[in-house]
Amino acid sequence: MARYGRVARVIFDLDGLLVDSEPVYAEIARKVCKKYGKEYTRETHMKEMGLSVDESCQVVVQALQLPITPEEYRLQLESDCEYERRLAEAPLMPGVERLVRHLFNHHIPTAIASSATRTIFDSVSSKRKDFFSLFHPIILAGEEPEVKKCKPAPDTFLVCEARFQTKAEPKETLVFEDSVAGVEAAVAAGMPVIMVPSKDIDIALCGKATLVLNSLQDFRPEEFGLPSF
Ligand SMILES: [Mg+2]
Repeated sequence: MARYGRVARVIFDLDGLLVDSEPVYAEIARKVCKKYGKEYTRETHMKEMGLSVDESCQVVVQALQLPITPEEYRLQLESDCEYERRLAEAPLMPGVERLVRHLFNHHIPTAIASSATRTIFDSVSSKRKDFFSLFHPIILAGEEPEVKKCKPAPDTFLVCEARFQTKAEPKETLVFEDSVAGVEAAVAAGMPVIMVPSKDIDIALCGKATLVLNSLQDFRPEEFGLPSF
């Protein structure tokens, strides 16, 4: 039964939702901050999750009072010798492969809308080109002039919505997100959103989501009017 209404297509966030990449960012950020005698904590990580790279670098530099500019911080993260390799090796989240292939097999249009940069996307997709070929469109906020503001603004999802080949209402587009900023963006775009929060997220921050799941493995497509497994 479609208890949450019927949707016609699906948009996925990338980092922390499709790919278990957040621990990679956290570990490399911890290394860089440690060089300046600062501790990159779980709270700091929560503050920057889901934001654009530029914004997240600003948040970290400010929160920890690092004696470098956000640009220098970003350069240090990206020049870490482990960065690209670790992202390429980050596993898909549990249940992702089964769900995405299920949607594809039932001709449900499926997209990615992310704040990640092209470098990050290329790294996480480098060893899984076949899997990532199932998504169309793939919107990377920083590459799209039409995206004036990253998540938590709705732009990334609205631009993605407009690029689907078939037209539908925002309320017929289901979003999957792991971050608070991402959920706020989907809500602002008028789209139902399932949050699969990282274990570190305070459950009190998940209130705006249509539904909160511990894992994508718990998703029941028929509850949103999609073909069941
Ligand atoms: Mg995310």
